[in-house]
Amino acid sequence: MTNTISILGSTGSIGRQTLDVAEQMGLRVAALTANSSVERMEAQCRRFRPRLAVMTDESAAKDLAVRLADTDIKVLGGFNALEEAATAPEAGTVVTAVVGMVGLKPTLAAIREKKRIALANKETLVCAGELVMDAADTYGAEIVPVDSEHSAIFQCVQGCAGRREIRRLILTCSGGPFYGMTRAEAGKMTKADALKHPNWKMGPKITVDCATLMNKGLEVIEAMRLYRLPLEQVSVVIHRQSIVHSLVEYRDGAVLAQLGTPDMRLPIRYAMTYPHRGESPEESLDLLSCPPLTFAAPDRETFPCLRLAEAAAAAGGTACAILNAANEEAVGLFLAGQIGFYDIPRLVEKARASVSVTQAPDLEEILAADREARRAVLGK
Ligand code: NDP
Ligand code: MG
Repeated sequence: MTNTISILGSTGSIGRQTLDVAEQMGLRVAALTANSSVERMEAQCRRFRPRLAVMTDESAAKDLAVRLADTDIKVLGGFNALEEAATAPEAGTVVTAVVGMVGLKPTLAAIREKKRIALANKETLVCAGELVMDAADTYGAEIVPVDSEHSAIFQCVQGCAGRREIRRLILTCSGGPFYGMTRAEAGKMTKADALKHPNWKMGPKITVDCATLMNKGLEVIEAMRLYRLPLEQVSVVIHRQSIVHSLVEYRDGAVLAQLGTPDMRLPIRYAMTYPHRGESPEESLDLLSCPPLTFAAPDRETFPCLRLAEAAAAAGGTACAILNAANEEAVGLFLAGQIGFYDIPRLVEKARASVSVTQAPDLEEILAADREARRAVLGK
């Protein structure tokens, strides 16, 4: 059981919900980080009194230092300071809730300090999952997933004797706001349409990923890395109600699932309390009033990002880092209103075609692939 945590990305959707859970559980907070949301960070610092606050944006860090001058909270700026937050000695658990592969180096730093990693930042596992999982094994650091599907699977494999017992993992997928549309209809959808997720309130990048189904593709790779299973043993099923959070099918045919209301505070809390369970003040699932549970196959033609992610997973090596970096840049362009919905898979495909894949890459090769893929998308 964790008493003290650090949160990388505390001002975001997962970060704020983690602070709700921390407050409810009476956890102490050692370090908080954000990019540029100074006002929100100041409020969090005054409420939770961390020893360290980091803003990766240097001018935001200067602003925060002025605002917190009446406190004894240490304020640091820049990317390298994320590692200082990730390794704060008081914290037993580091919640990785930044968005994007910027989370990779601080996650590795926390692993080397044997912290428990409450992992929300899926891009880290997508681009360097094998390195991260190997490092966790080497240093004896626990990785407890926060992503709702992977938390569900984590809960369903407690008591599983080994991964040979597993026939397949079944990730559920809401289908996103454009579910059921034709390509022509989805192609007209704008940023505002994409940001309306039917069941979850999340940060903008993951919300767009949910609309393209890239999120589910990234999650397929995340599941392969966390459970060291091949692509053939990870499948996806559309489940519009987001009540069954994912399932594990065992070799004897038993299928175990975790159900609950769509509320990220459950997986966040479990990452803190594992292997125990904490008391939750949130509303629990009422089976008699919940809608009928439905399941369907995903449409990989209208939503090619899922197919692209699966192809990168099959290619291995740096292919997933290339896919992820290209997607981060393409989603950034879509959110800036500069490209259309289907330009996202087009640009990802372009980066995959133009950047060569290195097998069994080290960290430097992964970072180089990431940079090249970004250049391929931005045309720089
Ligand atoms: P948000 O966009 O809401 O929050 C992102 C956080 O990261 C903010 O604190 C932000 O700071 C910080 N940040 C953004 N860019 C940088 C950067 N370049 N360097 C350092 N810090 C940065 O994202 P979410 O909370 O939605 O998602 C966080 C992660 O969790 C993602 O990887 C996502 O895929 C994953 N996840 C999220 C779920 C959800 O329900 N939201 C569900 C499952 C997984 P600032 O506020 O200053 O910009
Ligand atoms: Mg998820």
